Amino acid sequence: MVSPRLVLVLGDQLSHSLSALTKADKATDIVVMAEVMAEGSYVRHHPQKIALVLSAMRHFAEELQEQGWQVRYSRLDDPENSQSIAGELLRRASETGATEVLATQPGEWRLIAALEEMPLSVTLRPDDRFLCSEAEFQDWAKGRKQLRMEWFYREMRRKTGLLMEGDDPAGGQWNFDHDNRKPAKPNMFRPRPPRFDPDDVTAEVLDLVEAKFSGHFGRLRPFGWAVTRKEARKALTHFIAHALPSFGEEQDAMLKDDPTLSHALISPYLNLGLLGWREVCEAAEAAWKTGKAPLNAVEGFIRQIIGWREFIRGVYFLEGPDYTARNALGAARALPPLFWGAKTQMSCLSAAVGQTRDMAYAHHIQRLMVTGNFAMLAGIDPAEVHEWYLAVYADAFEWVEAPNTIGMSQFADGGVVGSKPYAASGAYIDRMSDYCGNCAYKVKDKTGPKACPFNLLYWDFLIRHRERFQSNPRMAQMYRTWDRVEDARRKTVLAEAAAFLSRLEAGEAV
Ligand code: FAD
Ligand code: SF4
Repeated sequence: MVSPRLVLVLGDQLSHSLSALTKADKATDIVVMAEVMAEGSYVRHHPQKIALVLSAMRHFAEELQEQGWQVRYSRLDDPENSQSIAGELLRRASETGATEVLATQPGEWRLIAALEEMPLSVTLRPDDRFLCSEAEFQDWAKGRKQLRMEWFYREMRRKTGLLMEGDDPAGGQWNFDHDNRKPAKPNMFRPRPPRFDPDDVTAEVLDLVEAKFSGHFGRLRPFGWAVTRKEARKALTHFIAHALPSFGEEQDAMLKDDPTLSHALISPYLNLGLLGWREVCEAAEAAWKTGKAPLNAVEGFIRQIIGWREFIRGVYFLEGPDYTARNALGAARALPPLFWGAKTQMSCLSAAVGQTRDMAYAHHIQRLMVTGNFAMLAGIDPAEVHEWYLAVYADAFEWVEAPNTIGMSQFADGGVVGSKPYAASGAYIDRMSDYCGNCAYKVKDKTGPKACPFNLLYWDFLIRHRERFQSNPRMAQMYRTWDRVEDARRKTVLAEAAAFLSRLEAGEAV
């Protein structure tokens, strides 16, 4: 008798078209799925994120069984559970006599290494749920002095034909951002993303997560994430009908009482495999073709998926396993407690962190221009910042989180993802949000007891890294502005920034 193969399905590989499943034989092979403490706690994931992954895994395992697969599923509270992926594969191998494992390449170097080191014959198949393979990205990147998302994105448009009219981009432009990115006003009629009531499977998972991970940062309940493909499709349909039309204009706006604005909230579903990039982009394109959403919104949205998302993944695999340890700016300060919900007087940070604690979600500009901007300006160790982002968001998986954090938001990769740091003073936050109105600090104050900390830290950051950035053509103007400021004022700004950083380090509620 032929011994069965084990087919590994990880928690973010919940797609029926998964390359390992399509190469496996339902009649003889055995699917292995495992909830393990090692994955739940190697960073202190947000309880909602853990519950989402576990519940989606349990539902997916049920679907596989209904389709006739044999599934060996390890529950977190199973006393026999060895609590690691490799341990569970070995346990299932000894139970079944299997010596071979068929897997789809994990989206994290750590897990790839763990599988490659196993004393079983492991075949890793490429993860073909992406538009651009690793090899294709490497080809594209070869010989380029700088990797720029915009050029990559155009190739992906040509490759897919999305929003193309022959060889030309629809509407005559590749990018409609000049029509996008406006501030938003509170609007009580703006549709909220749908929430899904926990079924029995999710309810059981919520109790388990409550019992095992109560010390992790973040509120577990109310829990309203979609946990099946069917529900994720409903979330997508709702977004396309109600929020996509205003997605572009409101993309960069932030409002304290509207944490989601016109965002899709579909990243967890894409990253778990419940939705695929193609169906999402085709639904958006169809909305434009049928006159239900304007081109600026649809182009902006499609660019996030086939542009940014694919580019970011390409960078993760191109740059290699040491990427998460990069620290080009030599930042060494510890992550302050305010990131874990300790009191802060800064209304923007309080809103972004509070929403993260309650929902395991913040939108891109909150991540980039509030928490990320603050961490970079304050010189916080990027490894700690990376660990925070990996832990606190429902959509965080290393292949997508790390280049966004280490690269885009902290400039710790020295300029692989972005050509200049996303550094901004309080004026940007004030323009794009309603946070400053009720802040203890004054955004217009550049110095003095009420000066907005972003204003102080912005200059402190630029001066700290003058040598690196002053010849960057996109930053030279800022240095010229600084040089025109009178000497005494410059000294005051830097002294006040230093005093603020000392208070931050001392654990004061700044
Ligand atoms: P929308 O604003 O509605 O955008 C639509 C989709 O586009 C998203 O669902 C997402 O799949 C994709 N997308 C948009 N921007 C990016 C991007 N920069 N990189 C990859 N995909 C993108 N995204 C994650 O999926 N996981 C992460 O762990 C993650 N960490 C981040 C950390 C930092 C510091 C920053 C600045 C960004 C991070 N992002 C991450 C990117 C982005 O913030 C989220 O994808 C987005 O906020 C998800 O919410 P949404 O579905 O409402 O997105
Ligand atoms: Fe944030 Fe400064 Fe505005 Fe306060 S004043 S909300 S710290 S940008």
